[in-house]
Amino acid sequence: MSGWLVIAGLGPGDENLVTPDVRQALDGATDVVGYIPYVARVAPRDGLTLHPSDNRVEMDRSRHALEMVAKGRRVVVVSSGDPGVFAMASAVFQAVESGPLAWRELDIRVAPGITAMLAAAAQAGAPLGHDFCAINLSDNLKPWPLIEKRLRLAAEADFAMAFYNPRSKARPEGFVKTLHVLNEVCADARPVIFARCVSTPEQDISVVPLPEARPEMADMRTLVIVGSSTTRVITREGAPIVYTPRSVVA
Ligand code: SAH
Repeated sequence: MSGWLVIAGLGPGDENLVTPDVRQALDGATDVVGYIPYVARVAPRDGLTLHPSDNRVEMDRSRHALEMVAKGRRVVVVSSGDPGVFAMASAVFQAVESGPLAWRELDIRVAPGITAMLAAAAQAGAPLGHDFCAINLSDNLKPWPLIEKRLRLAAEADFAMAFYNPRSKARPEGFVKTLHVLNEVCADARPVIFARCVSTPEQDISVVPLPEARPEMADMRTLVIVGSSTTRVITREGAPIVYTPRSVVA
């Protein structure tokens, strides 16, 4: 039997946000490969081998998956959210490009998932209803000056912005600098959404004006959305609704 590889997104956390396509791939798999907490979200069953690994070994993990597929196994590589957003899909294709030519002929497919940015935006209202961009604030895989340049230019271009990996214990200063740049360039009280553990039992969403945003409001399980200059907040008894209008007047 010939093997296949599906690079799948498990969504932000809630089982109901896993697509039927991804579920079907998991049901047909012989092996599941991925970062420990994501593999833990896959129910064990007879005939399925789970291969959890540490976060820092993306290329090894990708090669391992491709080797198994070449031997005829049916492998799912799992990411949280969407596998193409700051996740495993690029790592697998990098391994394909630098690996044996035969790997290019393998049956490989990406099964999309609901990325944290979209799950967080939906909880808050519609903050990404006009033009927006997504930036990974971690400087593990790129230099800080590049992050700061993109941040500054995106703010100047008046995009709404979604930040992944905003702050970790290992690099607490990046998000301090981020807020500094935003306050300097934007100089207004646009809303900032801190969406933590979206679609899990620990979900916590807060909305604050930019000058009141504090670094400790974010951690590695938080997705941060900063509005554009046109983003609106509808206040009410319950949580506010944040939305960005569809149009910008000429
Ligand atoms: N591929 C993933 C992103 C991986 S980067 C996706 O598409 O969602 C990891 C970052 O995603 C975290 O640091 C956090 O910023 C964000 N994230 C992932 N799941 C989240 C959730 N349930 N709630 C809030 N942020 C989340």
